[in-house]
Amino acid sequence: MNLVDVHCHLNQDLFKKDLDEVIQRAKDVGVKAIVISGTNPAANQQVLELAKKDPILKVSLGLHPIDALGLSEGETGIPRVEGKIDLEKEFKFIEDNKDKIVAIGEIGLDYHWDKEHHQEQQEVFRKILRLAIKLNKPVIIHTWAGEEDCINILEEEVKDKVPVVLHCFGGRKSLVTRGVELGYCFSVPPSTIRTGNFNTMIKKIPLQQLLTETDSPWQSPFKGERCEPAHVLETIKKIAEIKNISEEEAADQIWENYQKILNF
Ligand SMILES: [Zn+2]
Repeated sequence: MNLVDVHCHLNQDLFKKDLDEVIQRAKDVGVKAIVISGTNPAANQQVLELAKKDPILKVSLGLHPIDALGLSEGETGIPRVEGKIDLEKEFKFIEDNKDKIVAIGEIGLDYHWDKEHHQEQQEVFRKILRLAIKLNKPVIIHTWAGEEDCINILEEEVKDKVPVVLHCFGGRKSLVTRGVELGYCFSVPPSTIRTGNFNTMIKKIPLQQLLTETDSPWQSPFKGERCEPAHVLETIKKIAEIKNISEEEAADQIWENYQKILNF
């Protein structure tokens, strides 16, 4: 069985101590590719460096909408980056490394943590999408509470020029339908076995448009635990159960989707 984790953050401090074991556990359950996603200039450098460690690690470089504007996420009030990012400089960095990456991401819109700068977020989002089209790279999209604007912008800017992966998409049914009609893929995290949050989506979306991810260290299938790439197996089990097919069938199709979308 070939498994894939199309979106995670193994550069996070939570993996500093035991990354080798984490990668080994993923291999032990059949994971053949792990896409680690950058979110800001420092993280982009980290994921590129990390990928040298093992050929199973693939890279996507991006700018998280909150980081791009130097805002803060959560209750800490502490931004993960110092001030606004120099977009042009980071775009050049991404372009210079284009042969080492499978996608641009994560990028997108986050209206959950930022209620004030939606226009600015949209402008940055559009600019990065244009970069992805220029470089002919798929995009991995983060959106929280901004799903409708996100789909509208994707339709305007991208349509089907490059493949689109919507990661942990929480939009309403009609937006999922639009995404499916546009040919976009949806990557599902293992947390759905605990919360059920993505089960309806799994049911509704054709298997050919589903992918598996972990968003590690977040989105764990087990309460209070760190998530890791091996947990994509839990998502596969859930997809197999909901679609009423074998785990092998689910895994094989998702592996094929990965090959087509992120290895194109
Ligand atoms: Zn993420």
